[in-house]
Amino acid sequence: MLTFEDVTGFFLKAAAEVGLTAHPEYWINSRTMEREFACTCHIGSCEQVENSSICTVSFSWGSLDTALSLEGPRGVCDFFHEPHADCPHLRTREIPALVLDLSYSLSLKGTTFSEESLLSLTQMLRLRASEHSSRTIETRPGVTLTLQDHRLAPESLTLQQRVELPIWHPEGLRGLHESSPYQYSGGQTLSPDWSHRYNYEEEEEGEAEIVADDPHPEEWLPRVMVDVCQDIVHVLEALSAVCSLPD
Ligand SMILES: [Zn+2]
Ligand SMILES: [Zn+2]
Repeated sequence: MLTFEDVTGFFLKAAAEVGLTAHPEYWINSRTMEREFACTCHIGSCEQVENSSICTVSFSWGSLDTALSLEGPRGVCDFFHEPHADCPHLRTREIPALVLDLSYSLSLKGTTFSEESLLSLTQMLRLRASEHSSRTIETRPGVTLTLQDHRLAPESLTLQQRVELPIWHPEGLRGLHESSPYQYSGGQTLSPDWSHRYNYEEEEEGEAEIVADDPHPEEWLPRVMVDVCQDIVHVLEALSAVCSLPD
């Protein structure tokens, strides 16, 4: 089974592998007992980071995730009733995916932009970020403003993305394709080759038997985290490139 420490460990290992500098933070919300992870990432050394784009990756790990990570779906059954084999608790399809929030920003300080050029920057950023992201399901660009000499001036360019990881789904990564292949609520389409890359070897050998309480997310998550981190590198580069274009 997969623990909070496994997920953060896979992420940090993948970040190091693709050359991202990572600053992780961990804490516990003592009211909800949710565990939280937030990690600021950037390319290159910390000294130059002020003028480059950064990404904060965060997720929270609820008490249900903890129960599942310790005992699997059987733990949920034990909590409510006597065990029986066809209980829907053992079919973890309904358990929400782990959502990674990716929040990018690039400081615009010292640069002046017209409203039109800011608008075209954000549109171009959205396009480039979507092009370079194999795993994210939503891309929302924005501009933060600050009050300077009695007028509003752009402070930073931002971008929000999300990645859903179906870690408790009985079919693992293939669970993502269950509802509607390649098309998600965010309206973003995944590249078609994405599904081929993660077809399980066992499936090709005709052994697609799924053990409901043992989806083995630890087997595919390290690979997926490398993809996520690679996407982050591409979007950080796109963000810097968009802003260095001539006005
Ligand atoms: Zn740093
Ligand atoms: Zn049950």
